[in-house]
Amino acid sequence: MPCLVCGEPNTVKSHLIPRGFVRRMLEDEKSAVSGNRLNDDLMMTQAGEFDDNILCNAHESFTQAADDYALRFYDRCTKSRRWVPNSDENAFFVKNPQPQKLLKFACTTVWRHAISSRYRTFDLDLGPYEATLRSAIFNNKHIDASLVLMWKERKFEEMKIPLIRSPYKNPQIGRRGWSFETVHLHWHVAIGSRISPLHTPSLRAEANDPAIVVNLGEENLLDDPSNFEILRNMLDNSS
Ligand SMILES: [Zn+2]
Repeated sequence: MPCLVCGEPNTVKSHLIPRGFVRRMLEDEKSAVSGNRLNDDLMMTQAGEFDDNILCNAHESFTQAADDYALRFYDRCTKSRRWVPNSDENAFFVKNPQPQKLLKFACTTVWRHAISSRYRTFDLDLGPYEATLRSAIFNNKHIDASLVLMWKERKFEEMKIPLIRSPYKNPQIGRRGWSFETVHLHWHVAIGSRISPLHTPSLRAEANDPAIVVNLGEENLLDDPSNFEILRNMLDNSS
């Protein structure tokens, strides 16, 4: 398939999630209490994926700056967070000099997964918003969208589970809402006006410097039924 933006027939390898996040996940895993095969397999199935059939070199390069920005932002979450005063460690500030780049990264990640044939089994239901996202990403057109960020460390029994979770439709975020996870950082992006009250002005990461990240602390994988799918993949892939 030619480049989905310009039609150029030569397309290049495009990672659905930037390699840098996979690297950070592995580093985090090394520091986890026990090394285990389950995590390796999970990583391979969920995070090593790319598609060499969607973007030409020029348009792939176009997404690089937002990818890099998201990685630097992630590193600041781990290294230079600052607790929001009186929040009882339920939220922290992170320096965010170019907030729109975070939104661009979130939009790009959702868009890449939605249009990739490697990810077709999951219906992200972009509908008419496919074009909206594409022109926001590649033509810098304004997009009416909001982004809320959260931090959560998952555990299974006493094992730390750093993972990358590809985008999925999340009606709790908004009528057109999607969520995904890059290691411990959870991204919730919604387009249009029908969004959840969660997207209050102070929590909107695409509009604030510093950004506020909501800290959800640790979660056992079994506490949230939507994690069962992750767990099932882990177990299936480990046999
Ligand atoms: Zn192109």
